[in-house]
Amino acid sequence: LSVGVPLEIYPNEHRVALTPQNVSLLLKKGFSRVLVEKTAGLQAQFLDQQYRAAGATVVERKDIFELSDILLKVRPPVFDQEAGLVKEGSTVISFLYPSQNKEIVEALAARKANAFAMEMIPRISRAQVFDALSSMANIAGYKAVLEAANHFGRFLTGQVTAAGKIPPCKVLVIGAGVAGLSAIATARRMGAIVRGFDTRAAAREQVQSLGAEFLEVPFEESGEGGGGYAKEMSKEFIEAEMALFMEQCKDVDIVITTALIPGRPAPKLITKEMVSAMKQGSVIVDLAAETGGNCVVTKPGEVYVHEGVTIIGFTDLPSRLPTQSSTLYSNNITKFLLSIGGNGQFAIDLEDEVVRGSIVLHNGVRIPPAPRPVPP
Ligand code: NAD
Repeated sequence: LSVGVPLEIYPNEHRVALTPQNVSLLLKKGFSRVLVEKTAGLQAQFLDQQYRAAGATVVERKDIFELSDILLKVRPPVFDQEAGLVKEGSTVISFLYPSQNKEIVEALAARKANAFAMEMIPRISRAQVFDALSSMANIAGYKAVLEAANHFGRFLTGQVTAAGKIPPCKVLVIGAGVAGLSAIATARRMGAIVRGFDTRAAAREQVQSLGAEFLEVPFEESGEGGGGYAKEMSKEFIEAEMALFMEQCKDVDIVITTALIPGRPAPKLITKEMVSAMKQGSVIVDLAAETGGNCVVTKPGEVYVHEGVTIIGFTDLPSRLPTQSSTLYSNNITKFLLSIGGNGQFAIDLEDEVVRGSIVLHNGVRIPPAPRPVPP
């Protein structure tokens, strides 16, 4: 079976789905050929000669689509330039977001393809090695702190120097899932005073174990929505939470927001008044920008200044650290592929929980999403 890796053509996408190291692994595990499009890894600092040295065949774009039995990608196949061109009966593995990309799914179905959505892989222990959402969220949280630091006019750490005593910067991280915890850890390592908030009680210990303070509201309500995910909170809880953020905004220098609820728009937690209450030169990084933002002032994809406060709404943070994100994504997708095929075999087992959770098309037929875990 031939595995193919095209250059990602989505604007500003710098990741590549497979690293040279994983090319070697796939060949060792019995895939007969790995085809890599010319310059596919260049933006992530993986050169064509490194792919060749690992055993890949570096080819033109059209060969990738004509010859690959299994196509590995980061972004969903682009509708008119990729999805309709895949080899008939082939398998495509990428982020896919099928409910937002119906045309793409239909184009793949017309090619009788199998399609797997990386973001739908169930987050069970066995599948942690395939969990690209977590590896990308980890990177986004880290990079969010770097972006904030780049737009902030002072040190994050405190210092006592001959030229004066410098107080540490104060950082508030809202939402302590994978990205939030990564942001907390990164800001702590850079020496900031860090506070974290989440609606799920389980987050408290994780925040504290990273050396940050866990903030609370005087309001009893469980935020657990099943499977470790958050549920939508009551209006009263959100009000209490926002009162806390209003006070915090007056005090902290950097706010990083990561609050998300699966299948819902991002909760709006930071108002214009809160932004105005922040000190001149403060920075907000809104990691929820893609799903509407946690801050009302956020402009998705942009850096925007509101009354002296910089609000960063980048929606492509993992792609801004392309070598790291490609390496982790490649490990995730390679292990996932090897869980389905290898040694000359490729067998899609719909009884397998991970396959069932992530498959979107089977021989061109749309498979309905697997039932989600029911909230307790
Ligand atoms: P996410 O990206 O869906 O959400 C980010 C965070 O926002 C969550 O922690 C959520 O509780 C929080 N949030 C939602 N509404 C909020 C509000 N109004 N105010 C403040 N915070 C709010 O979350 P995620 O990073 O995907 O992680 C969700 C859970 O899944 C975590 O418990 C995580 O540990 C778990 N997880 C498990 C696995 C695994 O077992 N394989 C892998 C990844 C994540």
